[in-house]
Amino acid sequence: MTQHFSYQDDTLNIDGISLKELAIEYGTPLYVYSKKALVENFRQYADTCKRFESDKIHSLVCYSVKSNSNLAILNILGQEGAGFDIVSGGELQRVIAAGCDPRKVIFSGVGKTANEIGLALKHDIHCFNIESFAELHRINQVAQEMGKQARVSFRVNPNVDPKTHPYISTGLKENKFGIPYEEALACYKAAASMTNIDVTGIDCHIGSQLLDDAPLLEALDKLLHLVDQLSEEGITLKHIDIGGGIGITYDDEKPVAISDYLTRLFTRVENWRKQKHPDQSIGLMFEPGRSISGNAGLLLTQVQYLKTNSDKNFAIVDAAMNDLMRPSLYEAWHKVLPVSNRKGEATSYDIVGPVCESGDWLAKQRELVIQADDILAIMSAGAYGMAMASNYNTRGRAAEVLVDNGNAYLIRRRETPEELFALESVLP
Ligand SMILES: *Cc1c(COP(=O)(O)O)cnc(C)c1O
Repeated sequence: MTQHFSYQDDTLNIDGISLKELAIEYGTPLYVYSKKALVENFRQYADTCKRFESDKIHSLVCYSVKSNSNLAILNILGQEGAGFDIVSGGELQRVIAAGCDPRKVIFSGVGKTANEIGLALKHDIHCFNIESFAELHRINQVAQEMGKQARVSFRVNPNVDPKTHPYISTGLKENKFGIPYEEALACYKAAASMTNIDVTGIDCHIGSQLLDDAPLLEALDKLLHLVDQLSEEGITLKHIDIGGGIGITYDDEKPVAISDYLTRLFTRVENWRKQKHPDQSIGLMFEPGRSISGNAGLLLTQVQYLKTNSDKNFAIVDAAMNDLMRPSLYEAWHKVLPVSNRKGEATSYDIVGPVCESGDWLAKQRELVIQADDILAIMSAGAYGMAMASNYNTRGRAAEVLVDNGNAYLIRRRETPEELFALESVLP
């Protein structure tokens, strides 16, 4: 638990506001975020970047929009100076709707459509992170039709093992992401000869929930080696983007401190630059998602029924896999805390939702003292929580509240059932 969430008189608070009162006022299921936590997490990146800033080294922290894309969150991070890493045209439109600068956007993802590329060019985004040769051709073609230059980087697959869950590991050879390391040189040469392509960078993203930065530094070394090879070919890159992926504490994990990781990274790049390219300036970019939004939010849910089947106890709650998919998708572990502490003997419960799937569970075998109607907090749910929510079982998605300086703000209201089928029609 971070310092933003603490018990006062046996009631769980977020930045001094009672979560019980928020549950009563806004209903459940309810996502609750701390602006303070969000900003602190972002500044861990931004402050270290500032320390290393010089006329030869600059940097941009591009928040990964897919981890939590609420407009209020994008707006806050934009005001903090963040750029944005997007994976769809829809996310670009969110960034713009949140009042943020599209020229600080980088566009990742393996399947960009011609429409999405056109939209991104129209808004003059910072860079496309290209994931295949075919995509390079398409971007060149769209740019040509629009009479524009597209700034591009190649997402290179450095083939390092991030030692994380296979579903969130992306930098190994057998994975769909990026272009193989061995083919990078050929892609860059082809790109350099294209009329509407401006080759500006190189990037990678090797996985998520990394606790150790050694695989990231290994990936960096591989990228630096490619940058050297490219410069021998007369291709000079302006930036290196090392992706996101730093993990957070869900249970008792001890992820590397962001300032330590960035310090090691900047030091390595600065030594390399002085030794090999003393006259050149270089930009460093980052794409963190989870490490900024993950521990800035939680999900409140109310116990509906307690139930025992043979010797198993279930707490059936009003949140489900459609609200928080991580447990069913990755068997992810989230801490579960009662919002009001009760005295008594704890019982082991599986916390499950009302959705008609056996995979609909939020937590298993948790020792809790609870009764029906109690409110539970599913912790560390700020990243890949609401962003992955669906309307399965015609369930309206949870509302979202952001706490700032002693006030709570509704940043997304609950959906009504009518809204869930408003776009549908019966045959005439
Ligand atoms: C998801 C993603 C990120 C963010 O990853 P985190 O583990 O949340 O930091 C960054 N870059 C790319 C390309 C991604 O797909």
